[in-house]
Amino acid sequence: MVKTYIFGHKSPDTDSITSSLVMTNLEKVLGNEDAVACRLGSLNKETEYVLNYLDIEAPELIEKVEDEANVILVDHNSPAESVDNIENAKILKVVDHHKIAFETSYPLFVRAEPVGCTETILFKLYKENGVEVTKEIASLMLSAIVSDTLLLKSPTTTEDDIKAVKELAEIAEIDYETYGLDMLKAGTDLSSFSIEEILDLDAKQIDFKDVKSIVNQVNTASIPEVMEMKADLEAGMTKIIEEQGLDLFMLLITDIVNSNSQVIALGKDAALVEKAYNVKLEDNTVLLEGVVSRKKQVVPIMTESA
Ligand code: MN
Ligand code: MN
Repeated sequence: MVKTYIFGHKSPDTDSITSSLVMTNLEKVLGNEDAVACRLGSLNKETEYVLNYLDIEAPELIEKVEDEANVILVDHNSPAESVDNIENAKILKVVDHHKIAFETSYPLFVRAEPVGCTETILFKLYKENGVEVTKEIASLMLSAIVSDTLLLKSPTTTEDDIKAVKELAEIAEIDYETYGLDMLKAGTDLSSFSIEEILDLDAKQIDFKDVKSIVNQVNTASIPEVMEMKADLEAGMTKIIEEQGLDLFMLLITDIVNSNSQVIALGKDAALVEKAYNVKLEDNTVLLEGVVSRKKQVVPIMTESA
């Protein structure tokens, strides 16, 4: 049988992992028995916490798919964030909440909504298709929404996300605030990571017009704790800038409790951060108050200023 590989983006976060599991279940219930949940990288600590808590196995790790393979993309659509040989695959469906950054020569199912999390859309798809949202599925969905919206506090949060979390918390029988904070905090534990790993945890390649950039976001409950590693982080960032010919490397150290981000910016276009936020970098760093969302509060502002 021809398999259908279902996966989220590289450097997977909780939304990418849980959405692949939840979408795979939906496909199977609707008759696509050859759907396989996959992932394109190792689990982060937050997602590990979620899967351990719920006692659910992680999706299968893959690096590429066979030529002509059927794939379903969740939580991403840009080829740069997808499986390496995506151009040889047949994309059957996309369910996502990011801007559309791909093209195909054939028609396909695309469901994209400007909500805070892919799982909010999947929750709707379950309802629309009359598919049961079990306690397990609800717990997965809820975890991802809490993760992507930083407990419904990020400006990416929509009414749909809030409504979904409330309904899902009842099905899952979870106190989402307590569970959510524990989950987010589990994700901030950097102790076992090397500098290289920290710089790759949630790195996204983004071009702000002609400015070739990486924007990496690290969540923390204590900015000063992460800033103790500043010199080592900068050395690692400089190395990546040189290796990849980047114009800018932006590291956002996001305080999930107080909703601020300390940014470290390196590269020949580091001043773009100053221009975009009307701030002054001191020793390559500045606090961006109220900035927690890369998608809403970094990408558009940086692109406009480039
Ligand atoms: Mn994601
Ligand atoms: Mn997402």
